[in-house]
Amino acid sequence: MSTPTTKDPHGRRVAVVTGGAQGIGLATARALAVRGADVALIDIDEASAASAAARITDEAGVRAIGVVADVSDEVSVAAAFSAVEGELGPVGILVNNAGILTPRFEAAENVPPQDFDRMLAVHVRGSFLCSARALPAMKQNRSGRIIMLSSLVGPLGFGQRVAYSTAKEGVIGLMRALAVEAGPYGVTVNAVAPGWIRSAIVAQRLASGVLDDAALMSRTPLQRWGEPADVGEVIAGLCEPAFDFVTGVVLPVDGGFRMCGDTIPDGRVA
Ligand code: NAD
Repeated sequence: MSTPTTKDPHGRRVAVVTGGAQGIGLATARALAVRGADVALIDIDEASAASAAARITDEAGVRAIGVVADVSDEVSVAAAFSAVEGELGPVGILVNNAGILTPRFEAAENVPPQDFDRMLAVHVRGSFLCSARALPAMKQNRSGRIIMLSSLVGPLGFGQRVAYSTAKEGVIGLMRALAVEAGPYGVTVNAVAPGWIRSAIVAQRLASGVLDDAALMSRTPLQRWGEPADVGEVIAGLCEPAFDFVTGVVLPVDGGFRMCGDTIPDGRVA
């Protein structure tokens, strides 16, 4: 049986999960921690990141820290990574998960340009800044994993969410370019594309009727919503040695939703 990648002596056992204070990020940090990784939760919400880190240490017995940063800000990202390296050591796994959702479903002509800019800043610029900060040590150690959080909104066409769609396709372009650059150093770069995952904000939209449960389930072969752990376990799995020869891919984690058509014109199901 192979040794878990997270115990790899070449530096993969320290994992940074951005947006790790809750939802998919927290589930990912937990999944990495139970495999033995020390984890740093970099999040704009300092208090939640700190309490989530304390829970992970209690549950998994690894070192876990919460570090405050806005991933879209270069200075903030640099300071956060220095803090992580100082406390835990070189970063071998980076999960670029921090994200925001579309505040309102609306046609492109009604989207305030500043909302568009913020969406790209958090998802695309944030993933770029964190990857660029993590890569030199990974290259030097000739070992590392970077995982981007895309969405089925990236590869599919979704109406009324132009900024989010652009951002989630943007991280796929970033992932492919980095996979080519980092491959010769033994660093893999991949993306997951979650479908409908019941994190706090999605659950809120479902409860308020903004999302149409029946419409979504009618085109989901596995006939259920995803939970944050469904995505977290896949990401942690991608960090195992079994995936050493896999780079540059986008892995859907969507219960089969993507197979059932290419466009979603209605904001209520998007
Ligand atoms: P969430 O809102 O539950 O958690 C996002 C986390 O990111 C929060 O802890 C938040 O504080 C943090 N964050 C936001 N802006 C930040 C910033 N500028 N700097 C640092 N941290 C920041 O979201 P989630 O549903 O768990 O989604 C996580 C990721 O998965 C996002 O990238 C999202 O686009 C993607 N995704 C989610 C779904 C879904 O259905 N929930 C589907 C596809 C993709």
